[in-house]
Amino acid sequence: MKRANNQLLSDIKDRLLSYRVIEDTTGCWLFTRAISSNGYGIISFKNKRYSTHRLSAHLFLGLDLESKLYANHKNICPNRRCFNPEHLYIGTHNSNMSDMREKNSCCGICGNKYDGIKVRQNGRIDRKCMNCSRRYIRESQARRKRK
Ligand SMILES: [Zn+2]
Ligand SMILES: [Zn+2]
Repeated sequence: MKRANNQLLSDIKDRLLSYRVIEDTTGCWLFTRAISSNGYGIISFKNKRYSTHRLSAHLFLGLDLESKLYANHKNICPNRRCFNPEHLYIGTHNSNMSDMREKNSCCGICGNKYDGIKVRQNGRIDRKCMNCSRRYIRESQARRKRK
């Protein structure tokens, strides 16, 4: 039983990491698949859905998924869909106090509603809508390939 569990864990870890794009300026691990309405990555595995940041905290930081503890993003991390364990910490409170402000902001590129990713660039935070995020992720993937 224990062994089966470990196998499951390494399978889901491989899958999680195969959907990762590492953001150059922030070091964020951006999840490139499904994103929930509140901006967190979502991965399905064996008929269960997991938030990617929470799953990552489980895989890399030892968070018990059954516990009431939260996986929070550190201040250094501007992206909810980021699942870099170095950008996460386990806490007793959900630290999403800036939710409202976030929801009402706009994409820095096209001015549409911000619903994608944030990128920290030259000391400022650049918010992008979903479309601009997709393009950004594609471009950074292409950049990596060229390297
Ligand atoms: Zn991050
Ligand atoms: Zn945009």
